[in-house]
Amino acid sequence: MIMNFEFFNPTHLIFGAGSLSRLGAVAQGVGKRALLVTGGGSVKRSGVFDRAVASLQAAGVTVTECAGVEPNPHIATVRRGVQTAREAQCDLVIALGGGSAMDAAKVMAAAALEQRDPWEMMAHNPAGYRPPAQALPIITVPTLAATGSEMNNGAVISDPEAKVKTFVQAACLYPHSAIVDPELTVSVPTDQTAYGVCDLITHVTEGYFNGADATPLQDRFAEGVILTAMTHGPKAVANGDDIEARAQVQWASVAALNGWVQAGANPAGFPVHMIEHTLSAHHNITHGAGLAVVNPAWMRFAARHNTPKFVQFAERIFGLSSNGPDDLDCALAGIDRFEAFLREIGCPTRLSEVGIGAELLDRYAADTLTGIVAYQGKLGGRPPMAHEDIVTVLRAAL
Ligand code: NAP
Ligand code: FE
Repeated sequence: MIMNFEFFNPTHLIFGAGSLSRLGAVAQGVGKRALLVTGGGSVKRSGVFDRAVASLQAAGVTVTECAGVEPNPHIATVRRGVQTAREAQCDLVIALGGGSAMDAAKVMAAAALEQRDPWEMMAHNPAGYRPPAQALPIITVPTLAATGSEMNNGAVISDPEAKVKTFVQAACLYPHSAIVDPELTVSVPTDQTAYGVCDLITHVTEGYFNGADATPLQDRFAEGVILTAMTHGPKAVANGDDIEARAQVQWASVAALNGWVQAGANPAGFPVHMIEHTLSAHHNITHGAGLAVVNPAWMRFAARHNTPKFVQFAERIFGLSSNGPDDLDCALAGIDRFEAFLREIGCPTRLSEVGIGAELLDRYAADTLTGIVAYQGKLGGRPPMAHEDIVTVLRAAL
């Protein structure tokens, strides 16, 4: 049954090849002094950085750079960006990069206005989760199709010393505008392209399998995202210059996590993401690669509790035939096909492939549960997961 829901997404989406040239004109209406947040250098090598700066300067927007946001962005980098934004009196934050640059930029934008340390805004705060109420306006210009951060209100930040990766969600973190130009993604390497496809698919499988029953329109939206990614993802992996494939994948990545697909299904949690965040916190693995390892193992666990939805997935995504909604063999065959797809595009699907052994499974389970105090000792999802359930899933992924 469809649940009551609110849908709010104020981000002005500008999508299409060549739209980077609109950056200056869009920013001009928002601020005068931009903090331009970038990653480890890909935008410099591709020339995208120079084009962005030229567009901004032509529109009379001054640029202060905050370069060097690392994958799985560090809280120390966020603090550095806040300091830079304050010193330069920035009134606008622009992210030009992947999810890491965008997430870091969002938290910088909030902490630049609120007089408190950005780590206090995150869900993991032992003193209680107090997300920000205000932020400088944010413009996102994604260079990688994966997270959907460009059009949502979330950010994920890590403290590598404490081995914590945690998130924040707040209305003020919705970007003012998202300029989504698929041409910027042609330089993304093959492996990161595949991990992005996995991330975007996982955003909708989390809602699909952890949401309410009987939400037919949301199911079709989710299946549309998955089928689009499965059709065009392999083309983008095989030929990075295939701009049509890049565009289809990028639109799927935006739609996957801007709130629309999950509305009314109101998922009870994003358990695969929560478990993956713990693995990234400990081992600094790429988010999408970690999801490719955890998701099939989690699906095999969850399929026993919610078999009809997994049968539907097998039938509609892979065209398998079932003996009815309780046909667990069909459900598991669909998961096997999904795992095979991930392998075909080059994702790892075993913990050993990302350098993780059996030694710390209990620690990962404990840390995952510590990070989600809101769910009263269990990891939210269908079914809710206790400590030993998380260990079971991780053991199955070894
Ligand atoms: P990313 O960490 O931003 O970037 C991964 C790698 O791809 C980096 O080495 C980056 O290099 C490179 N790259 C990016 N764009 C490129 C381009 N056009 N050409 C060549 N290389 C390029 O990857 P991501 O998957 O987009 O973001 C992952 C982060 O987002 C994780 O921390 C994850 O937990 C988080 N996340 C957030 C949300 C959300 O809703 N906010 C959702 C899911 C995941 P450079 O650093 O040199 O640019
Ligand atoms: Fe994700």
